Amino acid sequence: MGKGIAYLINYLSSMADFIYYRDDSCLICGREDSNLLCGSCWEKIKKIDEPSEVSLDSVIIKVYSYAYYGNVVRELMLRLKYKKDYQAAKLFSMFLYEKLKETGIKPDVITFIPIREENRKKRGYNQCELIGKGLSKLTGIKTAEMLAINEGAKDQIGLSSLERYKNMEDKFRCIYYPKYKDKSILLIDDVITTGSTVYQGTKVLKKCYGGNIYILTVAKSRL
Ligand SMILES: [Zn+2]
Repeated sequence: MGKGIAYLINYLSSMADFIYYRDDSCLICGREDSNLLCGSCWEKIKKIDEPSEVSLDSVIIKVYSYAYYGNVVRELMLRLKYKKDYQAAKLFSMFLYEKLKETGIKPDVITFIPIREENRKKRGYNQCELIGKGLSKLTGIKTAEMLAINEGAKDQIGLSSLERYKNMEDKFRCIYYPKYKDKSILLIDDVITTGSTVYQGTKVLKKCYGGNIYILTVAKSRL
């Protein structure tokens, strides 16, 4: 067999892996299971019961997160962000669906934290948007892109909490849809650390739309 053909077969089979869902094995350990994660990997996920509170300028916001950013969730997040593993997005949507039912919140629309255009191009998608769309499929609630990044803002890496808040002040701008004025909005993020990203996103959405803003994240990272 020529090198060209071997390469082609290799390429086609990797495309097949990418396109087709592998619903029969655990995403983390590969053990046969029809639920995306096997029982023992599920057990390693540490769920969070109480919402976290993020406060700044005497305004307090509540953030609901499904689980701590531990081994299993971290591995799934890395697969989603860097290996185009859409199964991980599907699983995260299921996490959020379960959490949303627990809270009893009934939003009118789902939106998500945007990522920098440069990263979206590299990755091919915004992972928060994928998770939000999966949640939309499960709930029947529409998604809308309501936040955009002001590309001038600096990267967050290496900044302290306070510096992060300051740097985030003008990070987002609102994309306005008149039909969602005064409606309740669910804002999705993948992982919260200081909470500054969702805090600023909430502030912009509140100012722009006026209704209730609820925040739901897949994971919470301990600083
Ligand atoms: Zn497993």
